Amino acid sequence: MRRSFDLRAGLVVLFLAAVAGLGAVVWRTGYVQALQPLSQAGASDLTVAADRLVTQLSRYREFAVLMSDHPALWARRAGGSREAADAALIEATDRTGTAAAFFLSPEGRVLAASRPGDPRALTDPAVIMRAGQGALGAGLGTLEGERVFVFAAPHFGAAGAVAGALVVAVDLAALEREWRGSLPTVYFTDPDGRVFVTNRSELLYWRQDGASSFVAPDGRRFALGADAVGGLTIRRQQMSPYIPAEALYLTDALPVIGLTGHALIDVTEAKRLAGLQAAVAVALCLFFGALLFLATERRRTLALANQRLEDRVAERTRALSETNAALRREVAEREEAERRLTRAQAELVQAGKLSALGQMSAGISHELNQPLMAIRSYAENGAAFLDRGRPEAAAENLGRISQMAGRMGRIIQNLRAFARQEAAPATEVGLAGIVDATLDLVEPRIRSEGVAVDWVPPNAPVTVIGGEVRLGQVVLNLITNALDAMAESPERRLRIRIDGDDHGHALLTVQDTGPGIAEPERIFDPFYSTKAVGSGEGMGLGLSISYGMIQSFGGKLRGANAAGGGAIFTVELDRAREAA
Ligand code: ADP
Repeated sequence: MRRSFDLRAGLVVLFLAAVAGLGAVVWRTGYVQALQPLSQAGASDLTVAADRLVTQLSRYREFAVLMSDHPALWARRAGGSREAADAALIEATDRTGTAAAFFLSPEGRVLAASRPGDPRALTDPAVIMRAGQGALGAGLGTLEGERVFVFAAPHFGAAGAVAGALVVAVDLAALEREWRGSLPTVYFTDPDGRVFVTNRSELLYWRQDGASSFVAPDGRRFALGADAVGGLTIRRQQMSPYIPAEALYLTDALPVIGLTGHALIDVTEAKRLAGLQAAVAVALCLFFGALLFLATERRRTLALANQRLEDRVAERTRALSETNAALRREVAEREEAERRLTRAQAELVQAGKLSALGQMSAGISHELNQPLMAIRSYAENGAAFLDRGRPEAAAENLGRISQMAGRMGRIIQNLRAFARQEAAPATEVGLAGIVDATLDLVEPRIRSEGVAVDWVPPNAPVTVIGGEVRLGQVVLNLITNALDAMAESPERRLRIRIDGDDHGHALLTVQDTGPGIAEPERIFDPFYSTKAVGSGEGMGLGLSISYGMIQSFGGKLRGANAAGGGAIFTVELDRAREAA
């Protein structure tokens, strides 16, 4: 998590640095591009200013040349009055707006003047000397502290030789007045680098000293910075609040008037434009960068959520598998418990049977003893009849013996069947036969207890699906329970019936005249018994085992109290014919 955060922070910083770099490149390119038209406009401004200066000065140069040939000056040289010449010069200077005009002799003497003063103090003597040589002199100068431009035109005599010079001073301030304050800043310097003409008066008489400094008239020195941008020069200066601190610098030499023109064009606008372009580029980059960042963040968040979901699903799956395994284990344990229960039930059935056998053994031995005794006396009687020569009477006794032996055989057969543990599957069994066999088994008890048996076998045989031995056990259990219940009753009647119902069931009912069932809802509970505990009579298992067995044949065992007193038990089983 921390690592990925670091990585993202690093990427963001890298992106911001790239955007800053791009912004710088865009700014620089935009600046260079914006400077081009600025430099063209500035160059033409400078040309216009220079042309204007040159044109204005040219007028005065022509004036000097024309005026040098004025008749008044001819007259004055020929010895005419000074007043007339002065008047002509004054009139001409007044009309043309010239600051001063002096007519000098070749020796330098003032022959006429428009105003008082010494023309030699005006300017460099070389300027006037050029006129003496027949050429037109021109140069800068000062007249009573005012800047002037001086023209010196030769005055030619009749023979064509130089006979004098007319010196004309032009007030530069008057020329400047027209374009003062106009844009851009323009100034002209003399060969010494001094500012002599400018549209920014505060620059006057400043002197550029080399390439990197400007010197004010009071001697203060200002540093000049210069940068080259796209082949152009950008100057930085702090000379005056009216001169741009950062300006495109252009220069142009004017050999005609011996000056150099300079222009300083403010680059603030170009910078603003470049800044705007850079800002737009940076804003666009940041915008799309932010979009990209948001998109990747979104994807990252989704991926994280997905991962969490998958983890949770995996966890749930694991938990479910564990629960599943636990359930399987439980099912296996329950199956094992069920198997154990079935085994225990089978063992209990066997134990119950053995206990019943034990109970019955006294009666049975008595039952077997009785016919045995009878057989003995019949045998003795038979022998006596044979001795007496009465074979027919002996044969009758033998027949009785055979009957007795048959009865004993049946009793023993039933006992063996009862004791057998049945594992055979359910088959078709006749219900009436089972009732007969069971009654045979308990016959001695029925007789000794004086119970009336009301047993009417059905007209047609009724067969059901079940195990013969197990069904016998159920019927025996029902009959012995009935006999037990009637032990104290004055009337002892056992009613047994086999019927069918409309749904293809066989119904076997065993009804007694006992006191009835005390708690009908509990009789099928294992170990529920109302019989004397420890007497060996009841374990409370008979009905619950019987119930389980009938259920295993797909039938039902019900117990209830009969309307006229006593209990009635019903075994309901599917009839074999219908089942088949
Ligand atoms: P046991 O006979 O060992 O007591 P059973 O499961 O056969 O166990 O019977 C449980 C109980 O049901 C008996 O103790 C008795 O209270 C009641 N019972 C069963 N048959 C009858 C009946 N015919 N009349 C009244 N009560 C009965």
